[in-house]
Amino acid sequence: MFKSLLFFILPFFTLFAQDSLSFIIRVDDVQSRNVSYVPAGIAPFENAVELRGGKVTWAVIPHRLIENMNTSGILTQQLISTVAKGHEIAQHGYNHICPKCNGTSHEYYCSSQYFNHPYAVQNNMTQLGLDLLLDSLGQIPKSFVPPGHQVDTTSYRVLVDNNFEFLSSNGVTKSYIFPGLFNLRHHQEYTWELTQANYQTKLSQALFDIKTNGMSDKYFIILLHDPFIRQGYQNGIVVNWMGELLDSLNSTFGDRIKYKTLSEAAKAFRDAGTSIADGSENFNIQFKLKQNFPNPFNPSTIISFQAPNEGTALLKVYDMLGNEIVTLLNGPISAGEHSVRFDANGMASGVYFYRLTINGSTLSGKMLLGK
Ligand SMILES: [Zn+2]
Ligand SMILES: [Zn+2]
Repeated sequence: MFKSLLFFILPFFTLFAQDSLSFIIRVDDVQSRNVSYVPAGIAPFENAVELRGGKVTWAVIPHRLIENMNTSGILTQQLISTVAKGHEIAQHGYNHICPKCNGTSHEYYCSSQYFNHPYAVQNNMTQLGLDLLLDSLGQIPKSFVPPGHQVDTTSYRVLVDNNFEFLSSNGVTKSYIFPGLFNLRHHQEYTWELTQANYQTKLSQALFDIKTNGMSDKYFIILLHDPFIRQGYQNGIVVNWMGELLDSLNSTFGDRIKYKTLSEAAKAFRDAGTSIADGSENFNIQFKLKQNFPNPFNPSTIISFQAPNEGTALLKVYDMLGNEIVTLLNGPISAGEHSVRFDANGMASGVYFYRLTINGSTLSGKMLLGK
């Protein structure tokens, strides 16, 4: 009996063990009008994702960048630097105000009066948004995220006419939705009003969803909203949650999880018919960051790395929330092996991350300070 059970189970797991999963983190809205909760910027979330090898696609409402809550320009600066680090900016509508009913959260298709905005209206909103993103961030996005997740066939024409290649809407899972416009539909959102009470349940639900629906779709887009105002973003709870989720995914999938931006994933699926694009991320094999030794450690440990050429090295330590703790190295180095001591005297026990950047390439590691 056991023998026949194994016979059926083994091929099933072997099949899935070879599949890779493209994982996309999509954050909609990014900035809303009530800036009263912390963290007040995208950097802590971005760091927590980066330290686990992930990428973020920020779906930005263009008009927010010129509204009152952004007079400090902090968000604008952070959005400019996020692109330089390999994350993506998608256009998320124009200003989230419907030209028909003045309702918020939808604008390209009036879902309260079922009204299909004419081409000229949708085209105007799209171009005003594109101008704002270019002026404020120097970006011309390739992907579009519809406000309220819904667009119509007029929107498809507008998007293609404005050179968008990728869309993430309520439409088909992953396929062309219109000639020239490839759609990658998002999966679930788990962090809307996340609390300590539902934290573990949501984490288990997300993991299960990714292992089942994600694996059968070959990709998973996890959706988040409003880093500034949602209750769940208070005190970094979403930052923590996302970090834990990615840690679990990394230990479950290892190399088989491919972190991508929305456009990178959509492009890979779109081009899959003509090339074997998936899994072709280029990284420099000569650039190595070793596991710190000893690990766990108390109170000090050695971090070693191998530099492919001479250049400028930056080595920093972060806590679980992505807060920077210390800069261990910042300056010119020669090619070859290097070691740096990290002394954690007086620091709280727990997990820390170290991140090394040499000539624009970044690697990171995880270490445990024990007591
Ligand atoms: Zn939105
Ligand atoms: Zn409306």
